[in-house]
Amino acid sequence: MEINLTGHDCRYAVEQAMLSFLPELFAGEGKLESRFSEEGSAEALLTAGGRTTIGCAEASAPLPEEPLLREREKQKLVKLSVYRAATAFSGVQPPWGSLTGVRPGKLAARRLRENGRNRADAIRWLESEYDVTPKRAELCADAALAGLRVTEQLAEKDIILYVGIPFCPTRCAYCSFVSHSVEKSLKLVEPYVEALQREIRGAAALCRDAGLRVRAVYWGGGTPTTLSAEQLRSTIGCLSEAFDFSANLEYTVEAGRPDTITKEKLLALRDGGVTRISINPQTMQDRVLQAIGRRHTVQQIYDGYALARDTMDTQINMDLIAGLPEDSRADFRRSLEAVLALDPENVTVHTLTKKRGADLNSMELEGLDGDTVGGMLDDSFLLLPQAGHRPYYLYRQKFSAGGYENVGWAKPDTDCFYNVAMMEELCTVLSLGAGGATKRMLPGGKILRCFNKKYPYEYIAAVDASLEEKRALFFGEK
Ligand code: SF4
Repeated sequence: MEINLTGHDCRYAVEQAMLSFLPELFAGEGKLESRFSEEGSAEALLTAGGRTTIGCAEASAPLPEEPLLREREKQKLVKLSVYRAATAFSGVQPPWGSLTGVRPGKLAARRLRENGRNRADAIRWLESEYDVTPKRAELCADAALAGLRVTEQLAEKDIILYVGIPFCPTRCAYCSFVSHSVEKSLKLVEPYVEALQREIRGAAALCRDAGLRVRAVYWGGGTPTTLSAEQLRSTIGCLSEAFDFSANLEYTVEAGRPDTITKEKLLALRDGGVTRISINPQTMQDRVLQAIGRRHTVQQIYDGYALARDTMDTQINMDLIAGLPEDSRADFRRSLEAVLALDPENVTVHTLTKKRGADLNSMELEGLDGDTVGGMLDDSFLLLPQAGHRPYYLYRQKFSAGGYENVGWAKPDTDCFYNVAMMEELCTVLSLGAGGATKRMLPGGKILRCFNKKYPYEYIAAVDASLEEKRALFFGEK
């Protein structure tokens, strides 16, 4: 596509908008004229296949004098005008309007901080400045308010701690994580646990030296409960011996795949002080579980859930995915009703996303059209509040069906602190294990990052180097 800019040089914003809203057209023939006037208006003319559509956007207040704020406003208007031309061309209104980022809650939080936490104003602002649809604007404001509540509990040296276990019993078809099936990589598990414990001790020393305080712990992956009961007990013990958890508010371990849950493992979690686990059905339909290669049954979900309730006093999260192959709106609703009948404290509703690395890319994606997914999510917006849940965090991913989002729902006083702090980037994240991304937040919003090696065998070999990198991140030049 030919792109011509007049009065601005926000090419990246224009390309991102076209790529998000009309990817096929962006890659093909056509022409886009994008203009900006310093008076505070933008216009886009989109021409393709003999048709031309126009999108306009005007600033609701005089443009700021401060250069960075002015540039931000300019980009917003340019993008909105391109978005409006693209939606006029396609006839489709995306749920999130002209917003393309992963964390819409951050934007809403800024508005809420500026306007004395006026929820109604933030909703109106998202609708008028970004064309966000009313339901998503409300969702975004609620997630942002939850973020502000977490921010109030955080001090400057507070961190959240992530522990990654990159193994699963088998690999699901839709998964794009670097997760190894233990069927194939069993011999790596024990050396991985040893390397992880080495990193835990080194990272705990780093925390002490830097005066950091842990507020939430989260084990993800992969499926942490793929480890044996002994490996879990010993690693949980290593973590609590090495770190000071006296200010810790919450301790989550994902037990996502019900086929990994045993009484002995749950006892190891209970004895280690775990307060929240995740048991993730994704669907409560055996037919759909089979289609996505989960290799467990709905009955195993019920059994794992009952065993967890019997064994430990814990909050439980359950994940569902809207848009899975072989699913239908009616079956998704039945899955949600079945999950809610179990009465978990948290439910997370994901939208299926096509990603590189997932087998699903090569599967027939029947049933994944945006309208069906939108209907499934409409049902979740109806049923979850009826069961006493409200949204508390959200994030978006590229290439999700219908452009929808992932939403964490919680019963009162059960918001997952880690999820909110991590997703809204509210504090430093110290990440241990393969693929872990450590983010050090600096005052003023700058973020320094370092990454552990992705694959278990590389991670095992490089664990000392990873620790050195972390030290440099906290003690080196900024
Ligand atoms: S259980 Fe989760 S992490 Fe493991 S393969 Fe399935 S989707 Fe991926």
